[in-house]
Amino acid sequence: MASCEMCGKDTTSLKTSVVAGSTMSLCTHCSIMGSMKQGEQVKSVGFKKFTHDDVDLEIPQNYAQIIQQGINKKHLTPHQVARAVNLKESTLSHYLKSQIKPDIVMARTFESFLEIKLVYEVTKKSIDVEDYKASSKDSSDDSSNKLANMFANLKK
Ligand SMILES: [Zn+2]
Repeated sequence: MASCEMCGKDTTSLKTSVVAGSTMSLCTHCSIMGSMKQGEQVKSVGFKKFTHDDVDLEIPQNYAQIIQQGINKKHLTPHQVARAVNLKESTLSHYLKSQIKPDIVMARTFESFLEIKLVYEVTKKSIDVEDYKASSKDSSDDSSNKLANMFANLKK
């Protein structure tokens, strides 16, 4: 039989709850108390962290080519482009020669002005799943959590 991590009571229906940022297996009573204690502030911080970790923004290696194609399509001179995106012409030429990689803000500016796709969202989900598997492999809590979830589903 598993016991509640908050009050230590032995119970067959443990619920996995997040209390103050850490995951705990709690009895029904404590999981209700835990969710009541959790303020709005904790929730919003957690959400921000999640979105930051989950999606990464990347600029492809051939960014210079993509920018150049955008410029060609619009029949613009480097001078016109530099003025439009508020860059020095010399800086723009560095980008076009692959000497400097634009940051996300700069890339977004090129995107909207030249109507090109320069920033890609890369999800890290697959990596997280691997981490999760590795860390929970030898955890004995895993089976008791499954049991708790089974009970939780039966009650619905
Ligand atoms: Zn408890």
